Amino acid sequence: MRCAFCKGDTEERVIRYVQEFDGRVVIIENVPAQVCTQCGEQLIRPEIAEKVQKIVWGEVPQPKTVEVDSYNFAEVA
Ligand SMILES: [Zn+2]
Repeated sequence: MRCAFCKGDTEERVIRYVQEFDGRVVIIENVPAQVCTQCGEQLIRPEIAEKVQKIVWGEVPQPKTVEVDSYNFAEVA
């Protein structure tokens, strides 16, 4: 696969996909994409892009988020 912009070589990588939708920011980790080694353009295959859009639109159930209690040891000890 060649970059559509600079015709450079692309390599398969996983990226963090960030998109704003409906007033919130959706971050999807580990999205497979072809990344141009020259200009950094990220090319997502149509079938992957389709799944990504479903996640962005909220059609995929969101995994439970885990709350973490954070303490500052210097303050509590
Ligand atoms: Zn490129």
